[in-house]
Amino acid sequence: MRTAKDFHIFDVHHHAGQVLGFASTATHTDAKPTTMEDDIATRVSFMEKHGIDQAMIMPGSGASNLGPANDYVAKYRAADPAHFPAAVGSVNPLDGAAAVAELNRCIDVLGMNGMVWHHRFCGMVINHPTMIPLLDRIKHYKVPAFVHIIADSMLESPWRLQKLADAYPDTTFVALDGFSSPNHVAWMFYIAEKTPNIVFDTGVMMSLHHQLDEFVEQAGADRLLLGTDAYAEPHFHTAFPINELLASHISDENLRKVFSGNLKRLLKLA
Ligand SMILES: [Zn+2]
Repeated sequence: MRTAKDFHIFDVHHHAGQVLGFASTATHTDAKPTTMEDDIATRVSFMEKHGIDQAMIMPGSGASNLGPANDYVAKYRAADPAHFPAAVGSVNPLDGAAAVAELNRCIDVLGMNGMVWHHRFCGMVINHPTMIPLLDRIKHYKVPAFVHIIADSMLESPWRLQKLADAYPDTTFVALDGFSSPNHVAWMFYIAEKTPNIVFDTGVMMSLHHQLDEFVEQAGADRLLLGTDAYAEPHFHTAFPINELLASHISDENLRKVFSGNLKRLLKLA
């Protein structure tokens, strides 16, 4: 049977830094402060255990004034670029002009590889009008937009992302957590068919009937990215999406795309 060691695995979905508003879980809002060095050591240990060679780092917060969070992930990338060759920034759209300025700083000054949003942590819908000036800048910079569509948030309902993707056809949107419910799984097939500029990660994927084999067959291997949705101390014990993909009927050639090829191409790292 194939193992993770047979592939280069570049995980698109790792959060780093303070996690504000994480579903009010005491575990994380009360998590003891840790240094970046400790965080990296814990994360790399997890990655090595599960055969993850590299990861893209993103902030974990939806607070206002995300400048410090963006500085943190940029420093994180710089501290260990072999494991973390890419980082994306985030801004709270409700910050208005300050959010646009911070997005510009993320790309121009910090050299971020794209931007990410988790709108439920911002307390707003994905397709709120304040996203328009931000996506205008994303279009200008020609970088991808990573957007969470987790199943238990109606603020992040997938049709809202689809509307943005339709309005910005030249921008690639990465739908994070798209396979997170039975309803979402079926929905992703439809969105993939109708909206070519959305690709999908495997974060928070269903433990059964996730239909990844069928998704790759129908939508194409170019549309799926491996994402574990990890933190330095992950909320799980095995890298489930990796195990499922390895055990699937997806060919080695297609798995190479899903595990790293698609993300390298998207981030222009290939
Ligand atoms: Zn996430």
